[in-house]
Amino acid sequence: MTVTIATLGFPRIGPRRELKFALEKFWSGRIGEAELQEAASGLRTAAWARQKALGADWLPSNDFSLYDHVLDTSVMLGAIPSRYGAADGVTDLATYFAMARGTTGEDAGCGHAHGSVTAGEMTKWFDTNYHYIVPEIEPGRKLALGRLKVVEEYREAQAQGYETRPVLLGPITWLSLAKGHGIDPFDLLDEVLGLYRVILGHLAHAGAEWVQIDEPILATDLSEQQRAAFTRAYAALQRSGPKLMLTTYFGGLEDNLALATALPVQGLHVDLVRAPGQLDAVLRAAPKDLLLSLGVIDGRNVWRADLNAVLERVAPIAASRDLVLAPSCSLLHVPVDLTLEPKLDAEVKQWLAFAVQKVEELTVLKRALNEGRDSVARPLAAAAEAAANRKVSPRIHDAAVQARVAQATPDMRERRSGHAERARAQAELLDLPPFPTTTIGSFPQTAEVRHARAEHSRGNLDDAGYQQFLREETERAIRWQEVVGLDMLVHGEFERNDMVQYFGEQLAGFAFTVNGWVQSYGSRCVRPPILFGDVRRTHPMTVDWWRFAQGLTDKPVKGMLTGPVTILNWSFVRDDQPRETSCRQIAFAIRDEVQDLEAAGCRAIQIDEAALREGLPLRKRDWQQYLDWAVDCFRLSAAGVADGTQIHTHMCYSEFNDILPSIGTMDTDVISIETARSQMELLEAFAKYRYPSAIGPGVYDIHSARVPGEAEMVELMRLAQQHLRPEQLWVNPDCGLKTRKWDEVKPAIEAMVAAARTLRAA
Ligand code: GLN
Ligand code: ZN
Repeated sequence: MTVTIATLGFPRIGPRRELKFALEKFWSGRIGEAELQEAASGLRTAAWARQKALGADWLPSNDFSLYDHVLDTSVMLGAIPSRYGAADGVTDLATYFAMARGTTGEDAGCGHAHGSVTAGEMTKWFDTNYHYIVPEIEPGRKLALGRLKVVEEYREAQAQGYETRPVLLGPITWLSLAKGHGIDPFDLLDEVLGLYRVILGHLAHAGAEWVQIDEPILATDLSEQQRAAFTRAYAALQRSGPKLMLTTYFGGLEDNLALATALPVQGLHVDLVRAPGQLDAVLRAAPKDLLLSLGVIDGRNVWRADLNAVLERVAPIAASRDLVLAPSCSLLHVPVDLTLEPKLDAEVKQWLAFAVQKVEELTVLKRALNEGRDSVARPLAAAAEAAANRKVSPRIHDAAVQARVAQATPDMRERRSGHAERARAQAELLDLPPFPTTTIGSFPQTAEVRHARAEHSRGNLDDAGYQQFLREETERAIRWQEVVGLDMLVHGEFERNDMVQYFGEQLAGFAFTVNGWVQSYGSRCVRPPILFGDVRRTHPMTVDWWRFAQGLTDKPVKGMLTGPVTILNWSFVRDDQPRETSCRQIAFAIRDEVQDLEAAGCRAIQIDEAALREGLPLRKRDWQQYLDWAVDCFRLSAAGVADGTQIHTHMCYSEFNDILPSIGTMDTDVISIETARSQMELLEAFAKYRYPSAIGPGVYDIHSARVPGEAEMVELMRLAQQHLRPEQLWVNPDCGLKTRKWDEVKPAIEAMVAAARTLRAA
């Protein structure tokens, strides 16, 4: 029986973020559409050539996107909200980018002037850090076949001599992610299926033998409606054209296994990294003539695979049926190429594999199975050696850290007194007015700040010069906050590149890449830290900056930390121990920092948990367990202080209904949340749950360049008082101000302080 290998999708940004730079040049008008398309087609060609050279048998096409593959699908189906004004089915690039990014009413970068329109809503793709544009379905608006990018890119590859398996986002996942304005997206099921049939027909006509149809929604809890839609959809799509490789990922099929294996498709891909335990059940349920694709290489993480262990599992299967081996999901979620990392030390590097290396791993597996293990004895031995090193390396395993985590006692998670008593102690020490005002931490990262950081890292600005620059920025920020009349100040975070990286760089157990970029949304890429070993704090990380800032003023300055759960969720984390264990180690490091800040005299410490919600597992039944340990880690980091020390946290999202009981158990003294855009609606949930401590509901939407006025902030706070007691309320923006300009921030915060004064006078 033969084994072949597939990639399911390759990073689209290019090894050196070429796509980002081309897009940004286009948006700023420095290049035209033709040059952008040329750059894009160059990236596609390079990706095909690369995967082919590495030995991939099934090359993907249409995995590329100028912005987002979900948006591409919406455009393909003509689901274009009327505010973009495009005639049905006709979508030019300006409309496409307007849907992705909104317009400011200026030239959209491609010669077409658009009025000011808001972008589509952006949200996270399952449990990844990739964001997609939420499909919108308007009542009465007909869908219609739009641009057939999937056919164009298939032909483009074909013309270059590459036979590809086009990738389509499946109809049920697309509909499940869509929001209907007053209608149920599934009302459009038949209409959508009709379009998919036509598209599949075009692909068959162009010569495609197989299509990879992605239905990651199959790895989540499905409603009866979704299940019925699956059955109906795939019955309708069978024999419309190419064979279908139904592709599932990000988790196991579990209760959806029988549904999936009963669908009339010719292939099924399953994720055996997230859900290794499903293999036997899949083999039992899969008909003999179903081509199985096994996701055995981690598409979501950067670790090198233990190839020998994989072979043990798949060799018996490969003996009796044809198999495709693949990454668990598209390689979109990992950096491109480990060989572009000259600065990673060799020991850490031997444990890693990025997209290119993952295809190489698949090639080794394929040869071992098709030609015998002897044909790849060397790479197999190297993989075994790396796996063995990783189990014992002192770079990873730190007995002191493990002992500390193991010996954590329940009292370490408990503040000394209850909430009311703490509030009294803090009121005495902090002496704040009613409706105290504060900000979330960062101030504008101006061009000068970024320039100074870049010059410092290039070696053109020495440490002393850089420190001096940062001190001046901080001092200016403190002086301005005093003048404007804020009650609790922040130092401004000018020294921080990123709220996670800043801490990761100072903690033992983290490694950083130079080119390890992963697409977050559109042209935005992130370089997640790699948490490879036991985490230890080797020195205080923020105390000097806090001390400097507090030394400039009599007003209280908040200490500013990133919480353990957020550090964990925004990093590539270890796969050799539970996430929970890694999180506890980080929690202890933050706890030490909290206590050092307190010892230095800091009276209010904010521990940001911006990403706590993001860590929620895909299956509801796993939520509580995650929330329990996440909250526990937060408490471990925060609870080691005296009653008079005020613990703040900040969360920038607006969905609290389902997680609020757990948020309540974090036992913070003050929480600031994002509410400006939702008219304080979510405070209802806080009220219902009788949230005991103080809340700062954001009154300034920092995601917009718009400067809000005093009156509307007062109005928002009045709405807040319909749900909460006045003494519970703080006045603050939605989030940090790092992405804004000072000439937006200054008037907005002045208005915010004026609003608080109005509230006090009432
Ligand atoms: N303290 C951080 C800041 O102000 C918080 C950012 C965030 O929550 N995303 O930038
Ligand atoms: Zn935030």
